[in-house]
Amino acid sequence: MTTRSQKTTTMDSKQDVTPCEHYRIGSHLSTSGALRAAIDEAVSLRLGAVQLFTRNQRQWNAKPLTHEELSEFAAARRGTLFEDGTRIVSHNSYLVNLASPDADNRAKSIACERAELERCELLGVMTSVSHPGAHLAGTTGVARKPKDPNDLDCEPSADELDGLKRIAQSIDTIHRDLAGYKVRIALETTTGSGTNLGYAFHHLGRIRDMVKEPERLAFCIDTCHVFAAGYDCSTAANAGAVLQRFDAEAGLAHVVAIHVNDSEAPFASRKDRHAHIGLGLCGEAWLRAVLRHPAFAPIAKVLETEKGLAPDGRAWDVVNSAQLAQWASVQVK
Ligand SMILES: [Zn+2]
Ligand SMILES: [Zn+2]
Repeated sequence: MTTRSQKTTTMDSKQDVTPCEHYRIGSHLSTSGALRAAIDEAVSLRLGAVQLFTRNQRQWNAKPLTHEELSEFAAARRGTLFEDGTRIVSHNSYLVNLASPDADNRAKSIACERAELERCELLGVMTSVSHPGAHLAGTTGVARKPKDPNDLDCEPSADELDGLKRIAQSIDTIHRDLAGYKVRIALETTTGSGTNLGYAFHHLGRIRDMVKEPERLAFCIDTCHVFAAGYDCSTAANAGAVLQRFDAEAGLAHVVAIHVNDSEAPFASRKDRHAHIGLGLCGEAWLRAVLRHPAFAPIAKVLETEKGLAPDGRAWDVVNSAQLAQWASVQVK
């Protein structure tokens, strides 16, 4: 671990690595045309991590992966940094709700999540990011108002607690069905929009405490979501305290991926709108604190920001990842 803080030049003496490769900074990339396209693009942009959808994320069903797709994906990784499966993160379908109070919907969600993990295992992808789920006010029938801020300190409400339990039970079912799998579900921090769970760090900790095989459950921190959820990370000291709080309530050791996004939506707004790095409201202090935290040195950090070209003509992914690498590599002023 101590070598992580050494300079790039001493650490990777075999060949030159870019700062993004060194710091495991990358982006969510398109698999349009072929799954391997995301790997090929990450390699050509010389990124150090990649996130992808292994299937159409807006549909329940996906065709099984063919032998050809699998061997092409393996071929794209061969001889690259992406032979390391921890540099590749999958994001599951947006339809999945492991907290759903509706039995049919939850069964469908479990099946969809299980299929996603089966795909990841075949592909050699070690991390499958999933939003924890929404309780849909299944117990009381009364949902929070959109303007009500998150109370990050209080105990979960009855609806929330029941939702957290359903998530843990759903994950137990999936773990039981997929005994021995290497890929881990990484539950992502959320903004707390609607009835979504996971906006409070202790939600994640509670789920992990409840599941029967906690060692198989991991976390993903989204910098935009944490800010919009209402954690004050406005200064270096506050940002450090937020990470300490995550450690106390959920555990930094279980974080296996970071979504590094800036936020277009205001602090504590519970809105989920990603902004280009440095152009949103998160502030440098927060992003720097995450990028430079030693616990995150070995894990993938991926952008989920808009594609297209920046005003200077470069691709936004290039501009944003370069900014992140710069912040990762330089001690604060
Ligand atoms: Zn995210
Ligand atoms: Zn988001």
